[in-house]
Amino acid sequence: MEFIDEKYIDSLINDDKLNDPALQKEIIDKSKDAKGLTLQESAALLNIKNKDLLEYLFRTAKEVKEKIYGNRLVLFAPLYITNQCVNNCLYCAFRRDNKELKRKTLTIEEIREETEFLVKQGHKRILLVAGEHPKKSSMQFIGEAVKEIYDVHINGGNIRRINVNTAPLSYESFKVLKSFGIGTYQCFQETYHYHTYHKMHPDGPKHDYAWRLFAMDRALLAGIDDVGIGALFGLTDYKFETLALLSHAFNLDQRFGIGPHTISVPRLEPAFNAPVAHKPPFAVSDHDFKKLVAIIRLAVPYTGIILSTRERAELRRELFELGISQISAGSRTSPGAYRESQESIEEFEMEQFQLGDHRSLDEVVKDCCQLGYLPSFCTACYRSSRTGDRFMELAKSGDIGKLCVPNAISTFKEYLIDYASDETKSVADKFVENEIEKLSGTTKTKTEKMINRVKDGERDVFF
Ligand code: SAM
Ligand code: SF4
Repeated sequence: MEFIDEKYIDSLINDDKLNDPALQKEIIDKSKDAKGLTLQESAALLNIKNKDLLEYLFRTAKEVKEKIYGNRLVLFAPLYITNQCVNNCLYCAFRRDNKELKRKTLTIEEIREETEFLVKQGHKRILLVAGEHPKKSSMQFIGEAVKEIYDVHINGGNIRRINVNTAPLSYESFKVLKSFGIGTYQCFQETYHYHTYHKMHPDGPKHDYAWRLFAMDRALLAGIDDVGIGALFGLTDYKFETLALLSHAFNLDQRFGIGPHTISVPRLEPAFNAPVAHKPPFAVSDHDFKKLVAIIRLAVPYTGIILSTRERAELRRELFELGISQISAGSRTSPGAYRESQESIEEFEMEQFQLGDHRSLDEVVKDCCQLGYLPSFCTACYRSSRTGDRFMELAKSGDIGKLCVPNAISTFKEYLIDYASDETKSVADKFVENEIEKLSGTTKTKTEKMINRVKDGERDVFF
């Protein structure tokens, strides 16, 4: 585990030489080539205090994001299949010792109903989430759930990519998981700080730091192409966490030739009967949160950065500018909650943590367009086998944009025709026209042809 080198990370954080505005400016200048940053350079940027330099950092993160992702934002929703858990994470409402939490594991029929709800909202991507439990979240159950979700088809709408966020698996189980046809396997280390990790996970299988840290190695070796890492910000010093998270990403890149497909940046939120969640030991301010997101964008320009509805709408808007490329929308964090009333006490007693953004998918979509972001429901890469190193090659050559823009526009048009409210349509139809106008040459012609097919009633049009 030497690639999470705590001493080295601490020495970088405390290195006065990295506290130099001239050096920090030089590093930001250099980052514009979208080739990434070293750990030392990232540490220097984490030390920025000067207001003008911070603004420059933010502007550059926006520039690099636009260079690689354009103005696209990929949308998804989580689907919780069980809140049963054998672990006792001090920050999570699903923890085993929370006897007041109403426990629920969805039946296959309920999973179908939840999926139907999401499909009817217009979602095309789901993040399947589960507590850790040998029976309630067994591989067999996850397999049946994935099959059921993919099976739901309503008037041309269906879930086309299922990513999975579950406890770490063995190499053999990852092979089975891959055979279910999942997209990205996601698992957050929560905190990379060894001592804090053990304090936060006092018992249960999750107590084993190394088992979790090497989950991605096992997943990649078992043939899962795309893996997503993350840290739960607020458990330890954010500078340490950011540098350790980047160390993990760099290490995967060095050993497997591809870094993580995504990095998630959840911040600790209040959670029912979770002792640590109401008063984070190292609460991360909005200011520092924005800084760390911008630095991750510059350090690993080709990695998707995921932001969930844990954050408030206003802050989410600011973070889109700094490098976020995927967002959840219209989320619920308890099993079965999509079909139940959002206000019900029952849901609160089953949810994992409190949300900061309660808006519906339709409202988020309208907001994105008003802010100049193109909502994308595209799942083409995964289904055209452009995953893992094939995706990274395309991304790094800059060619991915030529595929993504038409696919984003055509899947968004599909959404607008089938699901959007009149109010959203009135904003978004014009927005889509402008997006097409921005294109030129064959990309424009292809996009127009795709849009016409969608208008003629064809669904799932992509290339
Ligand atoms: N049980 C599995 C695990 O722990 O890896 C997977 C699902 S867990 C429900 C998903 C993630 O929720 C965790 O990895 C953790 O980062 C996040 N989480 C837990 N409690 C949270 C809280 N109070 N605020 C924000 N995120 C939280
Ligand atoms: Fe269980 Fe995951 Fe919550 Fe920990 S974070 S208590 S492992 S569901």
